This record gives sequence, structure tokens and C-alpha cells, in this order.
Amino acid sequence: MILKGGWIVQDYRRNIRDGAVVIEDNKIIDVGYTDEIMRRHGGAGHDIIDIKGKIVIPGIINSHTHISMTLLRGYADDLLLKDWLEKYIWPYEKLLTGSDFELGAMLGAIESIASGVTNVCSMYHYDRDRNEATALLKVGMRGTIGIAIFTWDAEGSLNNFKDAVKRFHGYNGLIRIASCPHAPYTVDPDLWIKSEELRRELLEKYGDKGRIIVTSHIAEDWNEVEMVRKRFNVDIPSDSILRYLENLGVLSSDFLAAHGIYLNEVDIEVMKRYDVKLAHNPVANMKLGMGYADTPKLIDNGIKVSLGTDGPASNNTLDMFETMKFAALINKPIKRDPRVTPANLIFRMATEYGALNLGYTSLGKIEPGYIADIVILDFNKPHLTPIYDIYSHLVYACKASDVDTVIINGKIVYESKAFHDIDIYEIMDRVESRSMELYEKVREVNS
Ligand SMILES: [Zn+2]
Repeated sequence: MILKGGWIVQDYRRNIRDGAVVIEDNKIIDVGYTDEIMRRHGGAGHDIIDIKGKIVIPGIINSHTHISMTLLRGYADDLLLKDWLEKYIWPYEKLLTGSDFELGAMLGAIESIASGVTNVCSMYHYDRDRNEATALLKVGMRGTIGIAIFTWDAEGSLNNFKDAVKRFHGYNGLIRIASCPHAPYTVDPDLWIKSEELRRELLEKYGDKGRIIVTSHIAEDWNEVEMVRKRFNVDIPSDSILRYLENLGVLSSDFLAAHGIYLNEVDIEVMKRYDVKLAHNPVANMKLGMGYADTPKLIDNGIKVSLGTDGPASNNTLDMFETMKFAALINKPIKRDPRVTPANLIFRMATEYGALNLGYTSLGKIEPGYIADIVILDFNKPHLTPIYDIYSHLVYACKASDVDTVIINGKIVYESKAFHDIDIYEIMDRVESRSMELYEKVREVNS
């Protein structure tokens, strides 16, 4: 397949006006000026797609979310994190079955693709037959599926993780499984150690199909250190959660911390030493009133920061264009410096760093040898005219609704704003009726 005549944004600094991309199977094999590419590849046997006037970018990567939670979108808002989780979210989630995990995740995958996201890192509960992985496979989306690990179901969680790796890791070249100890305050020290031992064992066995990363909610709450101390009666030197995790032996460059709002100097020093990554979720952090991550400082310290929406119950969408804009804006007034987090850096966080943070080596750029996850945007719009700087538009002006076509693993899954094989209205109807049923049930339980 050749996409020709568009503006190709290869990465955060290289872009070609009137360029073309050649895709063979699931890989990008060539990229350059249209006339050069057509000279090299213009013969028969290619599907040539004219993309004149359109912008081609690497697929956007949402590196922290819970896509099944579309079922809970708008169900409980404007509440303190503790009340939100304990009084609303967890009681509702107790009622969910495997088919709910799958249904919610299908809606989340559809929403993501239609807004230019080709790869999500999503952590949730697991059912062996129907879960977030089966949902992504039905829709044809790439994802790292994190299996939630909690002390309240320690053995069950570890069995789920093991089962998910065996069944789904590497499936169709689209799915990877991750270990997901939920947070330091919901996972006891012993379970942290056991889950990490299991991850290393599974990585040894299945690592040829891709990294099995570990990801967890870290330093989201200003009370986290105290909660962990009290709940598990443990020592937390220098009030540093990262030092505590280091002492448990669970850190590595495969560790992706989500949030990282309350990180002190020791935390940052430990992250640097282990090359621990960070998924920054500015919209959910603001909505829950938790605070904001000091991304300029983390970036200055060499920490790779990617972007996430967090779940659709705390955002309340999976819109990464909105997240890019918030990520660019959130630190500027606090630092009183508009030069921090410039547009091209934010774009890099949403693409190249997203891929690296999920353990991919050839993803997140439009470059020969890279996996063909590509998004085509329609820039023929009033709010995108004129164009001086492509990165400025991608971060500050472009909207999710400007996504026109999406290619994942070399296959067109969304074309001219329509899905090929999926009836999105049927899925929306099912979500609507099932969520109303669950809402009645949870009200009964709570009363
Ligand atoms: Zn989260």
C-alpha cells in the first residue's frame, strides 16, 4: 500500500510536505518525497491511496487507561478520590462480568481508534474468555493489557496474570500482557515481590513475543506514603515510594509508573537510576483534584514521559488530542513560563515515548522498519487554517474529530470516518441498556 501526496509527520522533528509512505504487510518499508517514492515503488501491485491535503502521523499511544470503564462514564463525578473509588466505582465494578469487561472495552477501542489512537495500555479485571484483550482483537486494535493485581485477591490475581500471558501475549501481533499491581496502597509488599518474580519468569519464557512490562498507579495521592505505612506496617525511607519499591526489588526499566504527582527528590533519583518511565494523565489528575505532575522537572532529569487519559470514568473521554493540549498547558501557568512543554515535545510524548514506555522498539514513528500504525488527519478545516507549524496544530488546534483514517498493524481499520467490520451503533445500544441495568442493581445494593 502506498499513501501518496500528503504531509508526512515522521516524528517530533522530521516532516515531509508532499510525501509518501510505503507499507508492506504490517511494516513501513519506505518514506520520502512523493516523486522519489513513486519512482522507486510506482509499478504495479500496489494499492495507491491519494492523500492530497491530508496529514499523516504515527498512531497516537494512550499509555494509561482502563478502557472497559466506558460503562461507568459519567456515573460518578466531582467526588474525592477515596469516596469516588470506595463508594461508587468499586461497588459498581463488583457487579461486572467478563462480558461487561469485553463490551466496555469494545466501546473504548472504537472511541480510541476514531480519535486517532492505535495503541492503549489498559489495566483492568480479567476473565479468561472475555476481557479487554478479546475486545481489542475483535476491533483490530493494538494494546498492552494490564492484569490488575490486588491484595484482596492475591492468588487469583497472579493466576489471572499467568493465564493471560499464556493465552494472549503476542496474539495476532497486536496484544501484549502487562503485570499490574494496582497501587502501593492496595498491594502488600509480599505480593509486589511475588508478582515481580512471576513477571520475570514469564518474560524469560514468552519475552520473544514482546516485553511484559509492569505498570502501576504511583504517587497519585498526597496521602499515599502514610496509607502504605499504616496499612502494611512498613518502613518508607525518605518518604519515597520509589525507594520503598526499590528495596522490594521490583524496579526495572520495564516499570511504567502512572501519574507521578507526588514525587520527591529521592523518588526522581531512583527513577533515573532504574530508567523507570512515567505515564502522565493531566485531565484525570485535574478532574479528581489530585494535582499535577511536574513534567518539565521529570523531563530535565531524563525521565521518559508518555501520556494517558486514565479511565473514561475519571476523564471522561479517551480523547488524546485533548490530553495533548492539557499536557502542554498544565505546567505553563504554574511555572509562569510558556516555554516549558512545547508542542513538538508533547507530540513526542504521545507517540515515540508512548511506544518506548510500553516496551516497543520499532513503533511510534513513520520510519522504514517500523510497525505500520498510522493515522491520517483531514486538515481541510476552518480551525486548522492556515498552517505555519504542523506540531503547533497537532497539539493546540487539532481535534479528535479531525481523524479521517486509521491503519493498525498495516490494516485499514477505520476509513473516511467509518469502521469496516464493526457496527458501532449496535455496540452503543448494548452499552446503553447494560449500563442502565447495572445502575439499577448498584442502587439496590447501596440502599
Ligand atoms: Zn488509572
